[in-house]
Amino acid sequence: SIPVIAIDGPSASGKGTVAQLVAEQLGFHYLDSGAIYRLTALAAKNKGVSWADESAVASVAQYLDVVFEGARIILAGSDVTEAIRSEEIGSGASKIAALPQVRLALLARQQAFSMQPGLVADGRDMASVVFPSAVLKVFLTASASARAERRYKQLIGRGETADLAVITADLEARDARDRERIVAPLAQAQDALLLDTTELDIQSAVRQVLTWWRQ
Ligand code: C5P
Repeated sequence: SIPVIAIDGPSASGKGTVAQLVAEQLGFHYLDSGAIYRLTALAAKNKGVSWADESAVASVAQYLDVVFEGARIILAGSDVTEAIRSEEIGSGASKIAALPQVRLALLARQQAFSMQPGLVADGRDMASVVFPSAVLKVFLTASASARAERRYKQLIGRGETADLAVITADLEARDARDRERIVAPLAQAQDALLLDTTELDIQSAVRQVLTWWRQ
């Protein structure tokens, strides 16, 4: 069987960066499952499909024409690597992620990333739904203010304008939607190890995951 490391946690907890670095260290594949939700939100928008129309968005999800070319993401022939990172598409992703038919339509697509020699997958329900038999499950979190500050620095670093109060409010709204939804709510799986990065830098977080992996 193929070894999977599942890393779940709230927005801007640093789980994406940690998961990528762990994958690199181990020579494993990497799944950014949030990108799949973002791609679905963007594809729906491009097709004029409302983010509230469950069956139409599920159909978009099912037929998503996406190619991962290294770090670049190609949607229906266009490079959308940057476009899916906007706040608008992040918010749309969080809305369509609450729709059960959409989550179901994206399940097999995510599971297909599990290939030899192994996979590191990050998201909200990697441990609970997508890879329940993962060898290592990590719930990676940080305080809301630490996460808001990280997101703020990220946006400023990309040359975008950012307002810390707006970002904090948006993160809190997105977290609440992720935690309170009926299907696959964001929560620490009972067999997941807790990694709080409020006071931890990326390298230390990566080291901790690798230590757990080797145990
Ligand atoms: O992680 P990221 O911010 O890119 O994810 C975008 C949105 O997709 C999240 O706010 C969350 O609502 C949703 N998501 C999810 N399940 C996952 C990954 C992401 O519901 N496994």
